[in-house]
Formats: sequence, structure tokens, C-alpha cells
Amino acid sequence: MKPPPFAYHAPTDLDEAVGLLAEAGDEGKVLAGGQSLIPLLNMRLAAPRVLVDINAVAGLEDIRVDAAGVRVGARVRHAELEADTAAAEAVPLLGQGLRLVAHPVIRNRGTTVGSIAHADPSAEMPAVLALLEGAVEVRGRAGTRTVPAAEFVTGPMETALAPGEIAVAARFPRPRPGTGTAFVETARRNGDYALCGAAAAVTLGADGRITAARCCLISVAPVPLVVDLTDHLAGRTARLGDLDGAAAAAAEQADPEDDIHAGADYRRHLARVLTARALARAAAAAPAAVADTYTGASR
Ligand SMILES: Cc1cc2nc3c(=O)[nH]c(=O)nc-3n(C[C@H](O)[C@H](O)[C@H](O)COP(=O)(O)OP(=O)(O)OC[C@H]3O[C@@H](n4cnc5c(N)ncnc54)[C@H](O)[C@@H]3O)c2cc1C
Repeated sequence: MKPPPFAYHAPTDLDEAVGLLAEAGDEGKVLAGGQSLIPLLNMRLAAPRVLVDINAVAGLEDIRVDAAGVRVGARVRHAELEADTAAAEAVPLLGQGLRLVAHPVIRNRGTTVGSIAHADPSAEMPAVLALLEGAVEVRGRAGTRTVPAAEFVTGPMETALAPGEIAVAARFPRPRPGTGTAFVETARRNGDYALCGAAAAVTLGADGRITAARCCLISVAPVPLVVDLTDHLAGRTARLGDLDGAAAAAAEQADPEDDIHAGADYRRHLARVLTARALARAAAAAPAAVADTYTGASR
């Protein structure tokens, strides 16, 4: 099928892009990598009257690494970010999540900020942002505002972006000292959206015991589901036996649905197993880690 008709603009200036989008109001959409939007147009599941292509807008192309973390501009492709060694060193969860996003061909075009703005409940990068308590910089006619990750994704494919606003960058903070991270998931085929995925961040003290632990589950709730597991795990070691109870507590908060890919019960089971696995891997990656090394079959 062909997309419905739309007016196409390719501005080179951010204020111009914001102006065009604001004029279009509810009927306008940003076009970034097009990896999600173009299929939706072709299937006529979306019919915006105006597309504002941001691929030539100056100032959105940078990856900046500093003491706070990594700032990713709206034009940065998943693949570019994946290849950035300074970003990977500062925030290892970026690379751990990005390698699970679709296939390399899609990562070559799709943007990380576009993925966050698209807000698919099965997407990895909104979960990375949520787990790290990052933020999205948003530009509209009224100026720039910063939206914390916890407030950005408001539902499946829904965000705090108002009509006329562009997400100009995402900020991924460095993890606290002593923290290891991991992202694991199960998908029917390599590169498919995950049936369930779990990202985890575990902080160890000098004695190798856990001082903080959080996870973020995807594909089991309308938004990335962040669960603080510190109360369950503080003072414990990262042995799988110790992690199981915390993983079960995280899975209890999941609210998956049956669909053609998997039943809700299976997804809840995956949430528990994958959370335990992600916690174990995160602890093993933390400096001074004494965790069991888990070598499960999932990606
Ligand atoms: C076969 C296939 C498999 C995939 N598998 C996965 C997967 O496993 N995991 C995963 O996370 N993703 C997956 N994706 C999606 C991919 O990661 C996309 O790159 C991503 O969802 C959207 O990024 P984009 O730059 O292509 O955005 P686009 O397709 O251009 O836009 C998507 C939506 O976000 C909005 N948008 C984009 N950028 C901005 C912005 N800067 N400001 C405001 N709104 C904006 C658009 O208006 C549109 O509504 C898959 C895609 C395909 C086709």
C-alpha cells in the first residue's frame, strides 16, 4: 500500500522545524529515521497531514559525553551510538540495550531519540532511559523544557510531547560508582521485538554486598516498568538464590496481556526469569562484584 497524501517539509533550522510542526498542530508528525513511521503510513495506520523531516536540521547530530553522562541528539542513529566507544564506556547500558534493537539495517536508520518518542512498550531504549533516570530535552514554540524519563512515556505510543514539540535530545546519566548493568530479553526470532526483556542496575559496596538494585521490564506493561528492588536485596550477595525473591517481586508488578505472540502467563514467567538473570549479570559487571556468573541461553 501507499501512504495517504501529506505535505513534506525538510527544514535545516530547528526554529523553522518547530514552527512548521506547531502550525500543523495535531495533524503534524516528525519524521526521523522513518523505521516505525513509514510502515505505519504505508499500512495507513497513521495519516498525518504534514511531515516535518528533521534529518537536515542542524544541531541535532551530536553525541556528547561529559561527567554527567551521554547526551544523544535527535538525529543520532542507533548504530552511530552503538559504535561510540566513549558513550559505551560512560554508560554501558546504552550498548547493552542497543544491540537488542531490531536488526543492524534498522539500527542504521532508526534514531535512538525517535525510538524513545515512539514509546513502544516493547522498545529497549525507553527502558534504558527510564532505568537510568534520564531525561528528554523538548523544544516547542515556548522554548526548551526537560522532561524526566519517568514522566515522558505516558502510555503505549504516548508521550508527554505536546503537538508542535520536538524531542531534541535524550540524556543518559552515568551509573553510580560501583554499579553494573545488563539487559537481557527473549524474542521469537533474533531481531524481533522482545516477548519480554529486563534491564537491571546493581550497585555493590566495598564488601561485595548489594547496596542498591533496580530493574526495568519491557513488553509486560503499557510503559517501561521500573521496579526498585533495593529493599529486597540490600545487604545481600548477588547469588541467584538471593535474587530469585526479588525477581518474583518485580514480575508480580507486571501486567502483561495475551496476544498472538505469547500468553500473559508466559510473559509473567519470562519477567521473573529474565529479571533474575539481568540482576545476576549486572552484579557480575559491577566493580568488586562477587556475583555468580549466569550463562543463560537468551540474548
Ligand atoms: C522490522 C522492525 C523491527 C524493529 N524491532 C525493534 C526492536 O526490537 N526494538 C526497538 O526498540 N525498536 C524496533 N524497531 C523500531 C526502530 O527501533 C525504530 O528506529 C524506532 O522505533 C523509531 O525510530 P525512527 O528514528 O525510525 O523514528 P520514526 O519512524 O521516524 O518516528 C517514529 C515516531 O516517533 C516520532 N518521532 C521521531 N523522532 C522524534 C523526535 N525527535 N521528536 C518528536 N517525535 C519524534 C515520529 O513522529 C513517529 O511518530 C523495529 C522496526 C522495524 C521496522
